Amino acid sequence: MAANQFLEYAFFNEKIIPFAHANVSVATLALQYGLSCFGGVRGYRGDDGAISIFRLPDHMLRFSRSASLLKIALPGNVDYLANAMIELTKRNAPTSDCYFRPFAYKSDLSLGPSIGHPGGAFSIYMLPLGNYFGDGEVKPLRVMVSSWRRVADGAIPARGKIGGAYVNSSIAKDEAQINGFDDAIMMNDRGKVAEASAANLFMVRDGVLITAPVTADVLEGITRRSVLELAKFLEIPVLEREIDRSELYIADEIFLAGTAAQIAPVGEVDKRVVGDVTRPITTKLSALFDDVVRGRNPAFAHWLTRVEISQSLVATD
Ligand code: PMP
Repeated sequence: MAANQFLEYAFFNEKIIPFAHANVSVATLALQYGLSCFGGVRGYRGDDGAISIFRLPDHMLRFSRSASLLKIALPGNVDYLANAMIELTKRNAPTSDCYFRPFAYKSDLSLGPSIGHPGGAFSIYMLPLGNYFGDGEVKPLRVMVSSWRRVADGAIPARGKIGGAYVNSSIAKDEAQINGFDDAIMMNDRGKVAEASAANLFMVRDGVLITAPVTADVLEGITRRSVLELAKFLEIPVLEREIDRSELYIADEIFLAGTAAQIAPVGEVDKRVVGDVTRPITTKLSALFDDVVRGRNPAFAHWLTRVEISQSLVATD
C-alpha cells in the first residue's frame, strides 16, 4: 500500500498532525525488538456520511490491556483513547469505509531488550478499507494448515495484539500465499487448532458453532466475541472448546472472523472442500453482522459509535 493511500492526518504524541510527519527514529526499541502493541478497528460510512465505529470502547479496552502486557504507559484511559479516535475521524473526514490502527510502543532510543524501559508513545493512523481478502465479491477462502505453530502464550502473550508476535502471522501467511492459498490456519504448540494469521476461526459441526477458547493461544478477538453474541441472538448453539485438525476436514462449515476479515467463509482446507457448500449458519451470521455494522439492527445499536462528519471538511476532487 502506498503512503498516499493513508488518510491525511494521524494522532501522534497527543496531537493531530499530518500522517507524513508521524515518524519515529530507527533506534526506537519498538522497531528493534517489536516492543509495540496495536489495535485494528473498522469504521463504516453511512449514506449520510457519518462514520460508525464498531465496538470502539471494547477495542480500546483490549488495546490498553495489550499495552499493559508490555508495560507501556498510555497517555490516558479508555475514554481518552476512544476520544482520540473520534477526533481523528472528524479531522480525516473519510469518504469510504475505513480502518483505524491505534498503536503504542516503547519509544526509548536504547539498547538491550526489556519491557522495563520507561518510554511509551501512542499514535493512530487511518486508511480506507473495503474487503480484506480481495476486491469485489468475496470468494470462499482456500486455506492451509500451516507448518508454523501459533506463538505460545508462554513465549509471547498470545491474547494481546503484540507487535513482535506478528512475525508469527507474517511467516505463516507467506507460507500459505507462496503455496497458492489465501491464508494459514495455525495450530498451537499443543497441536490444537488456534486461528488464522489475522482472524479467529469458527467451525460448524452438526448445527453447533464451535471456536477455540481464549486459552488456546488465540487473540481475544472482538469479532470472535461478537459472533458468539450474535449466534446466541439467533439461538444457534455455541461451544468454546479445543478443535482438532481432523475436525477441519469433516466440519460442515468453517469461517474466519476478524475486524479486517469480517466474516469470511472458508471453502477449502488443505485442498479438501468444506462440507456444506450452502453454508446456512455462516450465511445467517454474516447477514446479521452486516446489518449490525451498518446500523440496521437496533438490538445492537450500542456496538456503534457514530461520528458525524462536517461536510465542509470532506475533500472534493
Ligand atoms: N487473531 C489475530 C492474530 C488477529 O490479528 C486478529 C485481527 N485483529 C484477530 C484474530 C481478530 O481479532 P478482532 O476481531 O479483534 O479484529
